[in-house]
Amino acid sequence: MNLLLLNPSDFISENSVRLTGRALKHVLDVHRAQEGDTLRVGLVNDRMGEGIITSLTEEALELDITLTEQPPKPLSLTVLLALPRPKMLKRSLQHLATLGAKKIILLNSYRVEKSFWQSPWLSEEKIHEQLILGLEQARDTLLPEVILEKRFKPFVEDRLPELMEGKRGLVAHPVGGSQCPHQIEEEVVLAIGPEGGFIPYEVEKLEEAGFERIHLGSRILRVETAVTAITSKLFD
Ligand code: SAM
Repeated sequence: MNLLLLNPSDFISENSVRLTGRALKHVLDVHRAQEGDTLRVGLVNDRMGEGIITSLTEEALELDITLTEQPPKPLSLTVLLALPRPKMLKRSLQHLATLGAKKIILLNSYRVEKSFWQSPWLSEEKIHEQLILGLEQARDTLLPEVILEKRFKPFVEDRLPELMEGKRGLVAHPVGGSQCPHQIEEEVVLAIGPEGGFIPYEVEKLEEAGFERIHLGSRILRVETAVTAITSKLFD
């Protein structure tokens, strides 16, 4: 946790907050901080700055805070992520939040197991938890938007064209296509397949919608690795 992310409900006065739970535990166990120490803080979807510890007990942490800095610039990236298994979903959401993606669409695909859509990790609360972990890692405050699209074809045919306006679509697929571009300036919509990969029909539908097929070489990467490696390369 490189930043304590604050919620409006944490405020006990205009410039002071009171934290319990995970943040308190982290400050006690990892930072091993003391009264008078300064910690990096940020308010969700708002500015960042510093907090001076005014009180620290086993029950609560209180800080006087000053929020003066803007969060880092978001990536010009929308990710279409074929819904991975819960363990990988958690890590992928964290990585994407850390990297600065601000729109993530969890998409159905032929090789997504139906049971994944029933996972408790898809609840708003659980998704929020993973995004917060990612933002705290990166020192960012801007929460990504996460959208669930449970039907591939209606999404690609009806909603994707609008989403694609003015953007460059890239579908990551280990077979065919061209080398993943790097250091690009355009806004990107990046599609990442499920653990079994997109089926040819899905790649073709995305190509019809204007996507280019790209690869990162012959090594097959796990979903969470592919997301990170491709994003890093695109926006290096
Ligand atoms: N057997 C699957 C296939 O051949 O498509 C492997 C799927 S891989 C575990 C999951 C997703 O990560 C892929 O659908 C793709 O989007 C992305 N990916 C993994 N390795 C990649 C590579 N070398 N180039 C491009 N995309 C890759």
